[in-house]
Amino acid sequence: ELCRFKQRTETLQANNHKHHLHPFSDNGALAQEGARVIEKAQGVYLYDSNGNKILDGMAGLWCVNIGYGRQELVDAATQQMQQLPYYNTFFKTTHPPAVRLAEKLAEIAPEHLNHAFFTSSGSECNDTVLRMVRHYWAAKEQPDKQVIISRKNAYHGSTVAGASLGGMTPMHKQGQLPIPGIVHIQQPYWYGEGGNLPADEFGIHAARALEEQILSLGEDKVAAFIAEPIQGAGGVIIPPDTYWPEIKRILAKYDILLVMDEVICGFGRTGHWFGSNYYDLQPDFMSLAKGITSGYLPLGAVMVSDKVAEVIRTSGEFNHGFTYSGHPTAAAVALANIEILQNEGIIEKARTITGPYLQQRWSELAAHPLVGETRGAGMVAALEIISDKTSRTRFDDKGTAGTLCRDFCFNNGLVMRAVGDTMIISPPLVISGQEIDELIEKAWKSLDQTA
Ligand code: PLP
Repeated sequence: ELCRFKQRTETLQANNHKHHLHPFSDNGALAQEGARVIEKAQGVYLYDSNGNKILDGMAGLWCVNIGYGRQELVDAATQQMQQLPYYNTFFKTTHPPAVRLAEKLAEIAPEHLNHAFFTSSGSECNDTVLRMVRHYWAAKEQPDKQVIISRKNAYHGSTVAGASLGGMTPMHKQGQLPIPGIVHIQQPYWYGEGGNLPADEFGIHAARALEEQILSLGEDKVAAFIAEPIQGAGGVIIPPDTYWPEIKRILAKYDILLVMDEVICGFGRTGHWFGSNYYDLQPDFMSLAKGITSGYLPLGAVMVSDKVAEVIRTSGEFNHGFTYSGHPTAAAVALANIEILQNEGIIEKARTITGPYLQQRWSELAAHPLVGETRGAGMVAALEIISDKTSRTRFDDKGTAGTLCRDFCFNNGLVMRAVGDTMIISPPLVISGQEIDELIEKAWKSLDQTA
């Protein structure tokens, strides 16, 4: 039987590489190695084409918050497809799922965020934000307030605007990015960039980079600051406690809009509905995607504050939108997903039980000789692989150790992600205590093999 599995996998791999170009991949190298074929999933486990069972420590791409295999979402999609599989929300039309989802999002989002603009992805959300922010200031007759400040090593998506807002240099190098009017400041990455400063002082220092940038551009030129509450793809960078309060102070002082990119943090990742709740922020925009449907269908939403929505509503046509804005089937699935999160108290459980347990067990990995730091919040965590703990020296600057560790994890039946030598987990929120134990055991074993 093993032989049959192997043969089937090899055929799938060969056909895959003939016709399929993968995102964020070296497609040549991947064709040599052969992509892993994932065939089904249930709960927190994936099953590959060789019959292996793998604990999904990343919830897909940080999105399968309620876990795999929930029939309620299948039923919601089926019923909606029978009723009205598609219709648009352009040209003076709407439909019940879009209305209900906008209402539901207004209910769960922070108090003043009561208006949803629908998209199909996180990238499209940030494209929308870029245009809406600039349109807002133009409509307020401050047309020079157009620059958006972001951070180095931020991830805001892969479209031209998303990648430009993001601070990933390898992305900027392809396609002549960023587009004009976007600048990137220091990130609040204390372990990697804090030098000799204590964390609290470094938090203030990193936040002041925003003020310096505003002053150097002129406050009448700066439209908005965009940031993830916790940088995800950049390596789960959890800002020091002093960071967000200082950012808040600066933004208020210079009348600059705050955009929270909640694509990862939204829908319970921090043990709260949104990262903005976790850090007590009142943003003008929130970009939502991923966990909004637990990844079962593509959907995004930009939540817009009353203050901004008022201006958008009274300034004529906003020339922006997508064929799938408010897609009825995706919206119905999002509603079913949010209902599960609410009815089963999944986020509350992540905040009070599973999250604290995950963080406690994860911090035990700090005792491993290869681990320089562990950090985390709610249901997301990271650790730094280093060769020397006291000097924080890495093995190299190519992320070799991280890649090795990630591959060992996979072979041991665990998905962990590597960003350079930073190892990351972001499991489904519904992971059990026993499954957390399994995750830690497999992580430890994989670190041993990396050493
Ligand atoms: N913003 C953040 C914070 C993300 O983590 C991501 C994806 O990982 C995106 C935006 C882009 O979302 P999408 O891949 O759905 O376009």
